Amino acid sequence: MKSKTALVTGSTSGIGLGIARALAARGANVVLNGFGDPAQIDALRAGLEREFGVQVAYEGADLMQPEQIEAMSASVSARFGGIDILVNNAGIQHVSPIETFPVERWNAVIALNLSAAFHTIRCALPGMRARGWGRIINIASAHGLVASADKSAYVAAKHGIVGLTKTVAIETARTGITCNAICPGWVLTPLVQKQIDARAAQNGISAQQAKVDLVSEKQPSAEFVTTEQIGELAVFLCSPGADQVRGVAWAIDGGWTAQ
Ligand code: NAD
Repeated sequence: MKSKTALVTGSTSGIGLGIARALAARGANVVLNGFGDPAQIDALRAGLEREFGVQVAYEGADLMQPEQIEAMSASVSARFGGIDILVNNAGIQHVSPIETFPVERWNAVIALNLSAAFHTIRCALPGMRARGWGRIINIASAHGLVASADKSAYVAAKHGIVGLTKTVAIETARTGITCNAICPGWVLTPLVQKQIDARAAQNGISAQQAKVDLVSEKQPSAEFVTTEQIGELAVFLCSPGADQVRGVAWAIDGGWTAQ
C-alpha cells in the first residue's frame, strides 16, 4: 500500500487505531482523526511514523459538523494528493429504552454513526474516481444486521450504513473503487468498557463478571473480537484479492449473527 493514503475516522482509540496500525504496517500513509489529549495524540502520531516508516497526519475534525468534514477532506487532499482509502469508523453509543431516549442523543448517534459517512464519502469519491482506484470501508456492527433492545439509534444508524454501503458499491461497480462494511461483534474498547461498567453497577456484580456475561450473551465463541483482527480484515478489503468484493456487510463477530 505504499503511495496510498488512508483516512481513518475515530482512530485515536479502539478499532480505528487498530485499523490505522494495520494499514500503516502495510506501508500506507495514514491520517488519524478523533478526540483526545493533544500531547497524547501527537505522541501516537509520531510513534506510528517511527514504527512503520510512513507519514502520519492528524485531523481533529468533529465529524458531527459537515463543514469540518469538508475542511478535513480538503486538507488531506492538499497534503497527500487525495484520499485513497477511507475508513468510516468514528462512532458513539447510547443505551436507553425508546420512550426515554434523549432526542439530542438520537440526533448525535445518527449524525456521527451514519451521516458523517455520507459526508466523507461524497468528499472523497471525486478524487478516487479521477485516480481510478479507491477503497471505502464502513465500520458497521453486528447491530447493522440484527437488533438489541435499548439501542434504537445505534441499530438504526448501523442498519443505515449497511444500506449506504450497498448503494455506494453499486454506484462505483464499474470502477476500481469498492465499498464494503465490516460488522464486528463485541470488541473490548472504551466504547464497550462503558457498557460493562454500567452493567456491573446495575447488576451489583464485578466488572470482570459483567465482561464475561456481556460477551457470552451474544457471541457463541464467548471471546472478544480484537482490533488487530479487524485491522487485518480491512487490509484484505484493500488488497487486489478483494477487487470484486463489493457491497458486502462482513461479519466478524464470534458467531453472533450466525444464530
Ligand atoms: P472508541 O470509543 O474506542 O473510539 C471511537 C473513536 O471515535 C475515538 O477515536 C473518538 O475520539 C472518535 N470520535 C468520537 N466522537 C467523534 C466525533 N464527533 N468526531 C470525530 N471523532 C469522534 O470506539 P470503538 O469501540 O473503537 O468503536 C469504533 C467503531 O466501531 C464505532 O463505529 C462502533 O460503533 C463500531 N463498533 C464497535 C464495537 C465494539 O464492540 N467496540 C462493535 C461493533 C462496532
